[in-house]
Amino acid sequence: MKIVAAVIAHETNTFSPLSTGLKHFGPQGPRFGDEAYQWVRAGRRSMTGMLAAAEQAGAEVVMAVAGNAQPSRAVDAEAFEAMAEALCRAVRQGCDAVFLELHGAMVTSHLGDGEGELLARVRAIAPDLPIAVALDLHGNISAGTIENCTTLVGYKTYPHIDIVETGRRAAETLLASMRGEIRPKLAYAHCRMMPNMLRMATDDGAMAELMAMARQAEEAGALAVSVFGGFPLADCPDTGMSVIAMTNDDVDLAQAICDRIRKAAWARRDDFQVAFEPLASTIGRAARIADGPVLLVDHADNCNSGGTQDSMDVIAEALNQGLDGIAAGPIADPEAVALMIEAGVGATVELAVGGKTDFSAIGGSSGPLLLTGIVRVISDGQFTVRGPVFTGSVINLGRTVVLDTGRMKLVVSEGRCEPLDLAMFRFVGIEPTAERYLIIKSKIQYRPTFGAIAKAVLECNGTGFASLDYGKFDFRRVTRPIHPLDAG
Ligand SMILES: [Zn+2]
Repeated sequence: MKIVAAVIAHETNTFSPLSTGLKHFGPQGPRFGDEAYQWVRAGRRSMTGMLAAAEQAGAEVVMAVAGNAQPSRAVDAEAFEAMAEALCRAVRQGCDAVFLELHGAMVTSHLGDGEGELLARVRAIAPDLPIAVALDLHGNISAGTIENCTTLVGYKTYPHIDIVETGRRAAETLLASMRGEIRPKLAYAHCRMMPNMLRMATDDGAMAELMAMARQAEEAGALAVSVFGGFPLADCPDTGMSVIAMTNDDVDLAQAICDRIRKAAWARRDDFQVAFEPLASTIGRAARIADGPVLLVDHADNCNSGGTQDSMDVIAEALNQGLDGIAAGPIADPEAVALMIEAGVGATVELAVGGKTDFSAIGGSSGPLLLTGIVRVISDGQFTVRGPVFTGSVINLGRTVVLDTGRMKLVVSEGRCEPLDLAMFRFVGIEPTAERYLIIKSKIQYRPTFGAIAKAVLECNGTGFASLDYGKFDFRRVTRPIHPLDAG
């Protein structure tokens, strides 16, 4: 048995100013062939789980392409076409099945829905080809995606901690169907709502309730039930929450499961929204908390949903209100990094940090922050994630510097990465448990690590292209009506 596999993953924030070219899909662009295979196999991706299933079945795997870019604006036509062609070329050469790790919220600059287009192209080459798809919980799923695959499974956790299992399940279900043991049937329901990502954590609130319903349906015999929270910052027709159920040869049952979860989601629609507190009030509350570390979560500038990771508004407000004992970052500012490296460790510098992005499209920002401090650490920016999530992954932040202003230790880096591990501070000599305040740019992914050491967590409504304050964005393409943009 020969299986063609590909990772083509991007969470597109159509409002982000960051570009998405071919070079962004890997260290020097996407990986191909054996290099792609080895990289996936050593990682903790959903394709890693798919490969394990293929190995167990004794299948030969041809990894056509593996490309994964950080969230940013719509994927350039050239980048999408290069990866799509690598996949299609491998399929044309003949295979028995296709395994795909996609995200679910990819938008391309020339065609719109990335996943639907990829699957349609593969099916156009081989209309009866068995195809397994693994997706992120933040996918905005289109009907075209469902129509052109055999099995489909999404993560059940946010923070995402079931990534490898998700891929394995999609692949194993496909392999069982190829052996004639089951006949997977898919159904789909769009919930006509755009939940706030801050309310998509799967261990509490309304999202936990929906996930429990999905698990119950699986325990009752469904092959897989996936609830997609959606990615609200991708302005496209299918944006929003959806449900996909996969059953053994019973499409009516699959549809009934989807409709039941859709109705439950709609009944809780207001619980998926957030009333934003003004930033000054949040920082004021933080100032009154005696016991640290107090975690200030600057979610609007989270690079893992398309933020530029250089907005200084939350840090500026914290300093304005007199907070002391702060560790913050990383802030992406290659210019400031270069200046501090030139000055050297131990030098006192005065410079403008961050705020260099033009935020005028979303109401502006306080701009760069003028800081005086001592350059404490200069690093190459490479470190290993200690876990419990993404354990063993090697992160490269680019050259990284710590600026110590007395009241704050600020990590400034050339590259961007969401603070998903305590190592993000420890690798430059900052012990996060010893700080009174930690200011990080994240949404939910911080919870297993920074959340576990925090005495209090405050969500800060700062500035950034990953803001969930929908009023800041001009939605034009999402199918209306949809909650909460429209009443109902
Ligand atoms: Zn996600």
